[in-house]
Amino acid sequence: MTTNPQARAIADAILARQRFVLSSHARPDGDSIGSQLAMAYALRALGKEAVVVNADPAPPPIMQFPGVPDIRIAPRVDGEFDAAIIMECSDLARTGVAGLDRFFVINIDHHPGNSGFGQLTWFDSGAAACGEMVYDVILAMGAPLSREVATHVYLAILTDTGSFHYSNISPRTFDICRETLEAGVDPVLVARNVYDSNHMGRLKLFGSVLSAMQIDPTGRIAIIYLDHEMAREAGGTYEDTEGVINLPLTVKDIHAVVFFKQVEGEEYRVSMRSKGEIDIGLVAKSFGGGGHKNAAGCTVTGAIDALQKLFVEKIEEAIAISA
Ligand code: 5GP
Ligand code: MN
Repeated sequence: MTTNPQARAIADAILARQRFVLSSHARPDGDSIGSQLAMAYALRALGKEAVVVNADPAPPPIMQFPGVPDIRIAPRVDGEFDAAIIMECSDLARTGVAGLDRFFVINIDHHPGNSGFGQLTWFDSGAAACGEMVYDVILAMGAPLSREVATHVYLAILTDTGSFHYSNISPRTFDICRETLEAGVDPVLVARNVYDSNHMGRLKLFGSVLSAMQIDPTGRIAIIYLDHEMAREAGGTYEDTEGVINLPLTVKDIHAVVFFKQVEGEEYRVSMRSKGEIDIGLVAKSFGGGGHKNAAGCTVTGAIDALQKLFVEKIEEAIAISA
């Protein structure tokens, strides 16, 4: 395999340095955790120092993977490092960790709209997960594909492809997964840890969100909603709704989902998902957010009924364009 020149450049910049702080976006997911910890284990195997600092803890299921409970949760980075490696993060501010810009910043990401921050950037919107890119850098550094490294690469790919549902999956995605299995990854155990280790409050909250689901007049868009009172009544938290947005898409006729989560008052976090060529990322962008073609989000303020109508209109346009 020929090494990607950008992976090579990043590997060389890393090999020339010794002490690293690693970070990713706030409210980390499987790809952000998997990318960071694959890199951390690889750096340590090369005799380097690697400290992972995140603004928020990993979701409980992800906490079961090696090294995750040791991640430092802090709003700023203390101490001195030769470089900061930021993975799976479209902008330095999205880390929610202050002080990273004091160091030589390396930016590895696949989110469309990455701001190109840092002294060294490798951006590939074609990667199915940032973990694929991190895998390339690890190989280019000559670090061994230990079971820990392989597990985190596989975790990143499994979660960021929505269990191999989303676009950007390539033959290379499976080549990498194959290598991780050769290195000792147990895909059944990873899937169990990620998908089958919930608590009852989460299932009840899913029930409550789905019971209140609305469908637009065309029958193609599902609208779901959550506020603090619903979470309290179900015995779950906002973190527990991770994944609920994908369920309406399991219905054949549903092409897109929009999920409104009350932050406070009339402020809402909006998450969207779509199938195939429907570009929900453009919809999010028109509301000041961003994301990928099939998964995107933004934050908006307004009366919920008017907001829902507005988003449905924009999504209907996106469906029309894709047809
Ligand atoms: P989620 O719905 O899981 O919060 O976000 C899905 C994807 O949309 C994320 O991976 C991220 O790429 C993108 N995204 C979500 N919210 C925002 C936002 O406020 N700004 C930007 N630029 N991207 C977002
Ligand atoms: Mn990702």
